[in-house]
Amino acid sequence: MSSAGSVVPTNRAEPAQPLADAGQAMWQLAADLFPICRSITGEGLRATLRQLQRYIPLELYEVPSGTPVFDWVVPKEWNIRDAYVKNGRGERVVDFQRSNLHVVNYSIPVHGTFTMPDLLPHLHSLPEQPEWIPYRTSYYSEQWGFCLSHNQLRALSDDSYEVQIDASLTAGSLSYGECYLPGECQDEILISCHTCHPSLANDNLSGVVVATFLAQSLLTRPRHYSYRFIFIPGTIGAITWLCLNEAHIGRIQHGLVLAGVGDAGTTTYKRSRRGDTPIDRAFAYLLQHSGQPFSIQDFSPYGYDERQYCSPAFNLPVGTLMRTPFGQYPQYHTSGDNLDFIRPASLHDTLAKCQAAFDLLEHDRYYLNQNPKCEPQLGKRGLYGPLGGQSDTQLSQLARLWVLNLSDGQHALLDIAERARVPFDLIQAAAMELLGAGLLVEQSRPVAA
Ligand code: ZN
Repeated sequence: MSSAGSVVPTNRAEPAQPLADAGQAMWQLAADLFPICRSITGEGLRATLRQLQRYIPLELYEVPSGTPVFDWVVPKEWNIRDAYVKNGRGERVVDFQRSNLHVVNYSIPVHGTFTMPDLLPHLHSLPEQPEWIPYRTSYYSEQWGFCLSHNQLRALSDDSYEVQIDASLTAGSLSYGECYLPGECQDEILISCHTCHPSLANDNLSGVVVATFLAQSLLTRPRHYSYRFIFIPGTIGAITWLCLNEAHIGRIQHGLVLAGVGDAGTTTYKRSRRGDTPIDRAFAYLLQHSGQPFSIQDFSPYGYDERQYCSPAFNLPVGTLMRTPFGQYPQYHTSGDNLDFIRPASLHDTLAKCQAAFDLLEHDRYYLNQNPKCEPQLGKRGLYGPLGGQSDTQLSQLARLWVLNLSDGQHALLDIAERARVPFDLIQAAAMELLGAGLLVEQSRPVAA
């Protein structure tokens, strides 16, 4: 898709992991990316995208500062080298080198000596969580500040402090990455994750690593849909991407935002604005049949980049997959959201659920019964097992009858699985048998009623 300049993907060195090992491998990738100071622009974001190029064919795009994107403008590029607050003895009492959360993200450069009363308005802490450093940003108003634990703040005396933020805020570009995997048709599945947070693990290195491994697992598979994975800075990145790619968004048939998917909480799916699109129904169906606790939320215009994809002019079929919803865990947007807070088993479980959902969407087709006047004689085609046999056989038989009955060109296989209350894979297997016996033909779209 169009961009203001691109970098061709480089080496792809990391082999795909068997699913059983993928949780640990995803956690390790999150650990590798964790120390990088990311933001909505700058070298940290680029370094992150370049690291992902070792896993998937990711193309990097650069959009110049000042580019108008709908009601917004691509901001100046922010880069930071060092920052500290030193006490009268020259000791770093707040040190960017210890945690990049210590600096308000997008702080303008500053160097000077401050009394405690002058410094205090620039210091941010969390009295209710005194051990943790808060995560703060100031993207669209030029300020500077430091974040520190409340315990650190209380330990500061009425000293004079040397303050240094060695940063730059200059004309540059906004970077994002796109991994496009062509399928049999041009209809697309969009997977989006925000890639702008610094050292925070669940929000959203978890989404970044699951998206990366999901793309990697799809690389070698036959694909009906084309897949487009985008790794973008939150809000401004989604707005920029939609603005640059507006001409092509009609191809998006299904979409998913991945954010906060590595904590130990139960899976949460947030529906698209439309609420009943195939991806909404696929996740609802799979979660209901998962045997695990789960939560399904209705759309609201607050959250992650689904806000942009589901804005009224686009209204795309894009849902959001999370575990514990953002803001509902105390570690959210603090240094408590660290590598201990995300778990290989949770990353693995999220990856498996995404794979199951896309697998379902890949196979959710419309078929037309070629023998709709009464039931076809299945016995002479070897498709009618002895009654009273194993329950699996009975269920397969029931699946064939449901598929034949509802394959009127207006019910896709997921419609049939929902109504029959039969697992989707059995419904799909029945359709393949009936197709093989010439009793069904595939329809590309529902036929008129
Ligand atoms: Zn966040």
